Amino acid sequence: MKRDDLAAEIMAEPAAEFDLRRLRRPKKAELIADEIRRWIVRRQLTPGDRLPNEREMIGQLRSSRGTVREALKILEAQGLVEITPGANGGARVASIAYESASYQLKNFFYFQTLSWQQVYAFRLEVEPRTAALATPFLTAADFEALESTIERCRSGQQGALPEAEHRREEARFHYIIANRCPNPMLRFASHFVNDILADFVRYRNVIGEESGSFGEECVCAHEQIIKRLRTRDVQGVLELMEVHIRALGDFLSHREQIVAPDLLMAPRDTGAGRLAWAGRGSELAGEALQATGSSRR
Ligand SMILES: [Zn+2]
Repeated sequence: MKRDDLAAEIMAEPAAEFDLRRLRRPKKAELIADEIRRWIVRRQLTPGDRLPNEREMIGQLRSSRGTVREALKILEAQGLVEITPGANGGARVASIAYESASYQLKNFFYFQTLSWQQVYAFRLEVEPRTAALATPFLTAADFEALESTIERCRSGQQGALPEAEHRREEARFHYIIANRCPNPMLRFASHFVNDILADFVRYRNVIGEESGSFGEECVCAHEQIIKRLRTRDVQGVLELMEVHIRALGDFLSHREQIVAPDLLMAPRDTGAGRLAWAGRGSELAGEALQATGSSRR
């Protein structure tokens, strides 16, 4: 992906449709849901904390029982609140896991037409910076994990690893680095773009017969990147990650231009190897987050 492509991309893109429905007046329950959200933030409530009971809420919010219930349903659907029935039940603040945020966002992209070029343009903006910021924070355990992904990719190159596993190890390298990025938004965006790519690889074998050269690029680039990470060479990591992402982007966008919009909807390939990817993207991110003890929220 070259910078010259930028002008072409701008020209090619129609203006995004503005959803006029967003201009409508919010319903009472939506306003109450916003009020409850603000209330949670103001009191610095954390997952597991109870919300006031229904009667107190009706009084405090000066709303009807129906409106309060509807507002809580909205917050429950958004994953912020969990409601348990029964005498000891009620509404509590829920913990929003990375996985649920990622699924929500993926649901949104199910209905967009994405090209590989667009996915990689985003990745190019996000991942090199994420890796650079993460560089000072990688631990000995992280380096061990990174080296083991390269080891497994090498055995994949020799055919000793099923292809799905091989691609998974390549992705794991990126998750481990991004996981140490101190900026939560960049960390999320990097994990998310890798999730999207994991799903693409799952549903269509785009890499196909060029798997060998794709794998070679990954092993070489990853080895170089680890060297710079070890010497805490922030600029070097930034530059090498850029080169690597460009190489992968060029590789994929010349294989296939448009990512079918329904590609993420349902698996078409039922080959056992590819099915092994099912849901792996988010799980990998989750695993990486758990393994290194970062906050999943
Ligand atoms: Zn890579």
